[in-house]
Amino acid sequence: MRILILGPQGSGKGTQAKLIAKLHDVPHVATGDILRGAVAEGSELGQRVQPILERGDLVPDDLMVDLIRERLEDEHGFVLDGFPRTVPQAEALDAMLLEIEKPLDVVLLLEVSDDVAVDRLLQRGAEEHRPDDEPEAIRNRLRLYHGLTEPVVERYRSGGMLVSVDGEQTVDEVFGAIEDALKQVRPMGSDPLGSDPERVQSA
Ligand code: ADP
Repeated sequence: MRILILGPQGSGKGTQAKLIAKLHDVPHVATGDILRGAVAEGSELGQRVQPILERGDLVPDDLMVDLIRERLEDEHGFVLDGFPRTVPQAEALDAMLLEIEKPLDVVLLLEVSDDVAVDRLLQRGAEEHRPDDEPEAIRNRLRLYHGLTEPVVERYRSGGMLVSVDGEQTVDEVFGAIEDALKQVRPMGSDPLGSDPERVQSA
């Protein structure tokens, strides 16, 4: 299974991606977690991205593309969360997956309103003290989502790969809807490496 999960900050992407990864035994590749890990380690990458993350700005595309290429190179399956966030990142991802002949099976979109997103992020900020869950950084992140990431959503929608899920339901309901969508794409028990490209493409 190669799954891309899209949606605004606070849509529950991370929560759902972890559940999918566990059930389907594929790695959860979350760029935010990778970057926060680098910051915690104090590595060169971490030092470079720390102020960017705190403002809620985006890390430069070239850096993200290199990071993802390295991370996905040897994986057959994955749930990708947090990348691509811009059209150039999406173009790079599509080219990369084409080159290694590992196309995406499905692109999931978790839809929530800005009001719900902001409420959830403020609550997480209070609980987890994430520096970018402060009101100003939250506004910035949602503004960047609407401006730069929504065109990525439209790109996959027009490619016919997108399945939208209502992200304002409970965690279990959202996960149920995702599982229903995944069954349509790849029925349980079929070849996990996708040796039947015709069926995958027509799904
Ligand atoms: P959220 O989606 O709630 O903003 P993430 O954990 O996915 O949280 O990302 C946290 C931060 O990491 C982003 O605000 C951004 O600074 C950086 N980041 C993550 N993924 C990318 C990406 N694909 N391109 C640029 N920056 C990214």
